[in-house]
Amino acid sequence: MSEAIEVETTSSPAEPLAPQPDLSIAKTLFTGKILHANLFPYPRMAQEERETLTPMLEAIDAFLADRRDDFRRWDLEAGQPAAFIQELRELGLFGLIIPEDHGGLGLSNAAYARVLAQTSRYDTSVSLTIGAHSSIGMKGLLLFGNTEQRARYLPKLASGELIAAFCLTESSAGSDAAALRTTARRQPDGSWLLSGEKIWITNGGIADLYTVFARTDGTEGKITAFVVEAAWDGVSHGPHEDKMGIRASSTTTVSFADVRVPAENVLGEPGKGFKIAMAILNNGRTGLGGGAVGGMKALLALASQQAQERRQFDRPIAEFGLIREKLAQIAIDCFAAESVVWMVAHYIDSGFEDYSVEAAISKIFATEAANRAAWEALQIAGGNGYMREYPYEQAVRDARISPIFEGTNEILRLFIAMSGLKDAGKPLSDLKAAVDDIFAHPIKGFGVLSGYAGRRFTRATGVNLGPAFAHCPGELRPSCAVYEKYTAAFGGAAEQVLRRYGRGVVERQYDLKRLADITIDLFVGLCVMARATTLGIDDPAQRERVHAIAATFTQQAKRRMAANLRRLEHNEDEQMDRLAGAVLADGGYRWDILSG
Ligand SMILES: Cc1cc2nc3c(=O)[nH]c(=O)nc-3n(C[C@H](O)[C@H](O)[C@H](O)COP(=O)(O)OP(=O)(O)OC[C@H]3O[C@@H](n4cnc5c(N)ncnc54)[C@H](O)[C@@H]3O)c2cc1C
Repeated sequence: MSEAIEVETTSSPAEPLAPQPDLSIAKTLFTGKILHANLFPYPRMAQEERETLTPMLEAIDAFLADRRDDFRRWDLEAGQPAAFIQELRELGLFGLIIPEDHGGLGLSNAAYARVLAQTSRYDTSVSLTIGAHSSIGMKGLLLFGNTEQRARYLPKLASGELIAAFCLTESSAGSDAAALRTTARRQPDGSWLLSGEKIWITNGGIADLYTVFARTDGTEGKITAFVVEAAWDGVSHGPHEDKMGIRASSTTTVSFADVRVPAENVLGEPGKGFKIAMAILNNGRTGLGGGAVGGMKALLALASQQAQERRQFDRPIAEFGLIREKLAQIAIDCFAAESVVWMVAHYIDSGFEDYSVEAAISKIFATEAANRAAWEALQIAGGNGYMREYPYEQAVRDARISPIFEGTNEILRLFIAMSGLKDAGKPLSDLKAAVDDIFAHPIKGFGVLSGYAGRRFTRATGVNLGPAFAHCPGELRPSCAVYEKYTAAFGGAAEQVLRRYGRGVVERQYDLKRLADITIDLFVGLCVMARATTLGIDDPAQRERVHAIAATFTQQAKRRMAANLRRLEHNEDEQMDRLAGAVLADGGYRWDILSG
């Protein structure tokens, strides 16, 4: 359908564009426009930070490279020894993003994600121990802590004397995190009495400090965030969970039995806890993305060695098209994931106001790409891949958690679509009533996402679009034209979905997923284009390869986007829904070849 759309691609000389940190490029896509100013030029890490990072990455290599047997054993035994955690402390890995004046290394989000990419080359559980501490465990103190709280805790968190964990999930509050039941009751002296149980808390068994979210229903709001010390009376944790993957990473319940929390340990304002939780998760997503990229790079190196060493039919299997296709696809996915993760890290580091949708996109794309890579690397290794002696089966098990935690990829897709639609509908006066109420639907979780997603809306007018892809070299222009065409088509499709369903769109999950998937392809593809434009400027061989990756990703994205746009109109949603109903009524699959 969108093949027929005529879009002009100008070739005016590239003017430097002023970024618009108050606008979200991903949300702007829903209005049919590309905010070039927030794409070009692709960010480059500052020289000073590269100089800090290089020896750090070398130290990580030296520390982790020869520990493959340890990681395998800790995976089987399910736990990292205390001596190893101590070594992580000594290497400074708990102070990565804590400002230097509080004893940390003061790394940017981009540099931090790069460190997690390095640790993830060796072991995902190691990355999680470090990442759960920095990305979510103590991030609340960094983002919302007052001067006194920061002075009290950050130096000890930087040295690793205190390890942190993030306590949101409960048995009846997973994706619907706002349904949590842990309570904190204010006492006459201003302190709080905290009671409840959190489940599946990463670092739960080794943490000294918990960021805890509890119900404090009051005039200010329903949920409040607290900083709670593990040593306080009434705080305890359960045994290490026996998990499918990331088995060495500590996951436990954490219980609070009438724990007295002093007034000064409220994080941010009372009643604002849900927004704080979402802001922490949002800000931390590039850590997970960086880890996914590092894991993929390690897998690609293993898979390419395996493909060249293993001979069948008198040839290395690397000569077979079906193996080469897998290797090339992992490389494309990895390049795309890397491009989007570091673009989002740049938005965070540059003080962009609203990167929630972009961060969700980077998490979805990177975690799903990492899972495909693990699956295909194991397939390349064949039977060896299935054996514990080789690293592939652990890679598959370890990768599997990433689309589940820190917001499931389903919930994040719905969030992307709903956030974009809300902004797309606002300037259309006839749709304003519908979008104003769009998050008020009873799907739990969406009600509470509204304040977060709709904090401000993209002003669809007054967007500085810049000259269409004037920054892309000529070879990349055909790919650029694809994004121009599909963005325009997408803007029209998003408006049509809103017009068709109004506020009922919240129940159209099949369509919301399609809109989210198109947004993912557009934004990831645009990040790829921006990066391909700057990479290899002085190196023709590299430029050719990068441009080939960009063009191939674009063709693949184009096919997916075309299919998703088509399926907004022609689909089997009703049949699928009826079939799901029948499966639920039957309690599973009803047929058997015995009876015909
Ligand atoms: C190893 C591990 C570590 C973890 N670490 C932490 C941690 O450190 N801190 C913390 O607070 N939590 C942690 N979690 C919890 C994690 O964030 C939750 O598991 C996650 O949010 C999903 O919740 P749930 O498991 O209850 O799934 P559910 O919410 O029950 O979801 C089940 C399925 O239904 C889907 N679903 C749910 N609602 C909808 C909807 N409205 N529309 C469509 N689909 C829907 C989900 O996408 C999912 O596929 C961890 C979990 C694990 C397994």
